[in-house]
Amino acid sequence: MNHQLIDPQGRQISYLRVSVTDRCNFRCFYCYTNEEPVLGDKNLLNDDDLIKLINVFEKLGINKIRLTGGEPLLRKNLVKLVQRISSIDSIHLIGLTTNGYLLKDKIQPLIDAGLNRLNISLDTLKRDVFKTLTGQDGLDRVLEAIGIAEKSGAFPFVKVNTLLIKGFNETEVNDFANWALKRKIDLRFIEFMPTGCGNWEERKMIPESDLREMLNLDLVPDYENEDVHSPARSYRVEGYPCRISFISAMSRSFCKLCNRLRLTSDGRLIGCLFGSKDIDLKPLLTENLPIDEIVDYVQKTIAIEGFRQIPLEKGAIYQHSMKSIGG
Ligand code: SAM
Ligand code: SF4
Repeated sequence: MNHQLIDPQGRQISYLRVSVTDRCNFRCFYCYTNEEPVLGDKNLLNDDDLIKLINVFEKLGINKIRLTGGEPLLRKNLVKLVQRISSIDSIHLIGLTTNGYLLKDKIQPLIDAGLNRLNISLDTLKRDVFKTLTGQDGLDRVLEAIGIAEKSGAFPFVKVNTLLIKGFNETEVNDFANWALKRKIDLRFIEFMPTGCGNWEERKMIPESDLREMLNLDLVPDYENEDVHSPARSYRVEGYPCRISFISAMSRSFCKLCNRLRLTSDGRLIGCLFGSKDIDLKPLLTENLPIDEIVDYVQKTIAIEGFRQIPLEKGAIYQHSMKSIGG
């Protein structure tokens, strides 16, 4: 029997973002607070449970999985997990969002295991600023990892996520653009969003319109590779291999075409970043319910009015902590 996940607003879901740990080796001030408890490894879904749930979602029409965190490379046996996911029939796209610190030695094993999409977060090209932001003297190794990923040719683009914050890194906008131009990199500028961690300030948010004025570039929409479900709007610069994208959750709503769900590392399914509702799937695993029963349960949950938020016109306050759901 063929199942599909369609919410009450008619949006079909095909993409699941999975946080594999809420631990992190960085301390980015916009994301990390000491007040927020860390779940720790004993509350994590183990690999078998995670694979069981991904099988459930595959039966419901999910074909893309992204592993995120916390820092996903802190999870033990991540390469093996990727390998197990890639052997699930209809999962064609497997992505990773990472801060890049532990990446360089893992790139080839991850590619061999089936990873075919890669996003690396990088907010500054200055060594001292990087150290102050993250708590690690790690700029060189992140840049090295980006270079290795780019050279591997395994990814359509290596995506670099750059969160812009006024008074912190906006003076680097054109340095980033110049750095990316000659590379096969998709440089994605992200608007600063209010999240559950509470460190957001409106005055520090740089709207896409201001950012475009700051950039000295002639941007041409990249219609050819457009993914209508992606929150990013992408552009090319004639004569260069790079792509420049904007993820502007505060200036523009992308709810109407949202095709994604999120799973936390302890097994909570989140229908929407802007809603506070989640359901705990862990008890279904503890009871060892057969896959078909979990499939029914998830399908009924998606149909509950309000589990997936009604499309919003504009950015609102995210209810969840980025560190636990991974963006
Ligand atoms: N640790 C990994 C990393 O940094 O790529 C994965 C998790 S991190 C939460 C995923 C993304 O969320 C990062 O690119 C980060 O910049 C972004 N992020 C965190 N807090 C944010 C905020 N308040 N507004 C916008 N993006 C945010
Ligand atoms: Fe920074 Fe990602 Fe860690 Fe958050 S989860 S503190 S964004 S590296």
